[in-house]
Amino acid sequence: MAETDRTPVTLTPVLSKHWNEPEAWTLASYERNGGYGALRRALAMEPGDVVTAVKDSGLRGRGGAGFPTGLKWSFLPKPDGLPRYLVINADESEPGTCKDIPLMMATPQYLIEGAIITSHAIGAERAFIYLRGEVVHVYRRLLQAVEEARAAGYLGENVLGSGKNFDIVVHAGAGAYICGEETALLDSLEGRRGQPRLKPPFPAVAGLYARPTVVNNVESIASVPSIIDNGASWFTGMGTAKSAGFGFFSLSGHVKNPGQYEAPLGITLRELIDMAGGIREGHELKFWTPGGSSTPMFTAEQLDVPLDFESTAGAGSMLGTRALQIFDETVCVVRAVLRWTEFYAHESCGKCTPCREGTYWLVQVLRQLENGQGKPEDLDRLLDICDNILGRAFCALGDGATSPISSSVKSFRAEYLRHLDEGGCPFDPVKSTLFA
Ligand code: NAD
Repeated sequence: MAETDRTPVTLTPVLSKHWNEPEAWTLASYERNGGYGALRRALAMEPGDVVTAVKDSGLRGRGGAGFPTGLKWSFLPKPDGLPRYLVINADESEPGTCKDIPLMMATPQYLIEGAIITSHAIGAERAFIYLRGEVVHVYRRLLQAVEEARAAGYLGENVLGSGKNFDIVVHAGAGAYICGEETALLDSLEGRRGQPRLKPPFPAVAGLYARPTVVNNVESIASVPSIIDNGASWFTGMGTAKSAGFGFFSLSGHVKNPGQYEAPLGITLRELIDMAGGIREGHELKFWTPGGSSTPMFTAEQLDVPLDFESTAGAGSMLGTRALQIFDETVCVVRAVLRWTEFYAHESCGKCTPCREGTYWLVQVLRQLENGQGKPEDLDRLLDICDNILGRAFCALGDGATSPISSSVKSFRAEYLRHLDEGGCPFDPVKSTLFA
């Protein structure tokens, strides 16, 4: 790896600090490590002061979009005596994204404590955790965690003598990517088919049951107790000026030690790959996603781009969910993009024409290209379909579907054309498996 003049970045295990301890998921273990101290502190604070602390920390949404968390909370109208809700988006489904599930499995009480503190801050009595349906083991773990918290008096009536009531409902969806889109999630939670709603109104104004609702990602809410415990300046002391704090960087694919690396925002892929033991022996990096498949792909040229919201945008992509999928030179970029596009076409909810029809046609054209049966003009056709989806679809699913295509054509046009010259895919799929 080349020398850089950066101060060496080290990992900052906060949410993953106790993952290796026996039974870290239990309330007893969580309390032994200081758990629920933040809730006691928060309940002694005015709700507005909790919102201010989170605002001052600079915490930005960890679900991908990076909207400032405290600012989102402050959008809720003044309490009017009627219910308002916290909804936690645990429907992690973006290809490559795999941080919330390990967090909920290993130490679910961070999320439960964060949910109670947030409920206090926004004046909600009931929080919902919306989990994707396939992960039954996580569902069981969360139910157990909520029960333990209730039995200990952290949930229920008059929590810790505060005079306040809090409860958490864990809800398992039926396994649809679109239900991770916050308004489709709300429709699904209300018992309807999950399809996105028009925004505005944003959920902060009219969300669950048309009441003011905060929708936040699991990692965002789980980070709240550490901010209350250690203070906003502790959090702003990590990361960059506009992308404060730490986060999970999920490395998958062709690295020696894939997994979760909790580090300050602004760390680079070069640094993370070094921590992960390098690219697999005898191979080199070809392309990677900074934040899941819906963020435009990078190549080895962007190894030193700081992984924060501003720098990734400046380099032509997005930080997204920090799902770093790493592909070496054995991988066919066209095949990878086809695979992702099939996913988007399958998961398109069908509500809007650009996404429903566009993702279908993208798959048809990509399949032809991958099989070497297309024509050179098909590359422009692909980009034209992308242009007709981008910014025209009802929600971010359509935009996301175009990212791997437009970014791969930009960086790997010659590889697309090679498929046509050779009348088929020039790559051996066996060589790209992790065991080859
Ligand atoms: P968005 O930028 O439209 O909104 C982000 C959040 O800010 C939302 O909660 C929204 O309600 C709120 N918000 C924005 N403007 C507001 C305003 N004026 N008033 C009140 N609230 C406001 O993004 P999005 O469509 O919610 O999410 C797109 C992101 O989701 C993508 O960047 C992608 O990285 C990510 N994503 C994540 C997963 C996953 O599995 N975690 C899956 C797919 C996509």
